Amino acid sequence: MKTFQLDFILLLIIYYGSPQNNKIFNLSAIKIDHLLRTELLEMKVPKKTKSICPRCKKHQEFTISIYKKGKKRTLAEGQRRYLRKKRGYGSQPKEVFHKNAKVNKKTTPLLTCSVCGFKKYGRGQRIKKYEIVTK
Ligand SMILES: [Zn+2]
Repeated sequence: MKTFQLDFILLLIIYYGSPQNNKIFNLSAIKIDHLLRTELLEMKVPKKTKSICPRCKKHQEFTISIYKKGKKRTLAEGQRRYLRKKRGYGSQPKEVFHKNAKVNKKTTPLLTCSVCGFKKYGRGQRIKKYEIVTK
């Protein structure tokens, strides 16, 4: 376990810059620990897996793809409200978020049943590179 953590710290050094660059020392111990637990660098996922299908009510073969956000509808009520709030109607305008502590965005796998086409989401993870491998 300890050697694994040391390996990971070395990887982090490679990833965030060498100690000569003094970049690694800017990260606090808490943040490094957080990164060790939550953020992976690379993950390879097989294109097909077996999982339970709620529609077929048994295990089926699922194909994995990466979920992508749909296009924003500018006339949707929530979007109109957000734009009004950002402009600041009758008060201070809503602040734009800048203090982002996270390094990577979450990648959500989308699983599709090969028999009935039922779609379900997998667990989203913060990974720099999420790769789907065909065998
Ligand atoms: Zn199914």
